[in-house]
Amino acid sequence: MPEFSYVHSRGWIEVVVGSMFSGKTEELIRRLRRAEFARLQIQVFKPIIDKRYNDMAVTSHDLTKIDSLPINDAEEIWNHLKPGTKVVGIDEGQFFSNNLVQVAQDLAERGLRVIIAGLDTDWQGKPFEPMPTLMAIAESVTKQHAVCVVCGSPASRTQRTAGGDSKVLVGTHDAYEARCRQHFKPTVDTPTLDWKLQREAQFEA
Ligand code: ADP
Ligand code: MG
Repeated sequence: MPEFSYVHSRGWIEVVVGSMFSGKTEELIRRLRRAEFARLQIQVFKPIIDKRYNDMAVTSHDLTKIDSLPINDAEEIWNHLKPGTKVVGIDEGQFFSNNLVQVAQDLAERGLRVIIAGLDTDWQGKPFEPMPTLMAIAESVTKQHAVCVVCGSPASRTQRTAGGDSKVLVGTHDAYEARCRQHFKPTVDTPTLDWKLQREAQFEA
């Protein structure tokens, strides 16, 4: 896995993509923690829309978390950027508008390391901008996989299992499953797993 933390004198862009549950947020947090070990000042941003586990922290499905600042628009990063910051982490990049691309470019031009995690495809399996454009301009792209809940293969798609057909529906296990190409459907499908029952079984064990 490419890891560029040893160069921090010049800016660049790293992108972490994959389906839901593929460990994008965990990987983002891992890289940010390593930057902290290198005594680099970090700042973390996430879209205000993502309130699934925590209002203020970037939180993985495994509930590891790191403090973050929720913002509406990528341009707001400029209002909050501290002079000493060397590494900027951004989660759920797909929920920002396309101006995230220019903001990321400008941050990198200024010498910052920019790490952006986000979904590369939407619930219909289509490219989810601005992530595909960010993948094209980034110095490093890491594509992660979850585990298909139907067959156990590497999962590259996010299956919607509840709600309507709006492009954005913020949810977790209540509305989405990780699936491979073979088991993915670009329509709302019946859930494979009953997460409530699984959770109860976990707590009883
Ligand atoms: P992402 O940000 O890509 O949605 P997270 O980093 O928040 O993913 O969470 C990854 C964690 O999700 C895994 O470590 C695992 O505990 C959990 N998880 C739940 N369902 C799955 C699945 N089907 N495949 C892989 N991991 C899963
Ligand atoms: Mg995530």
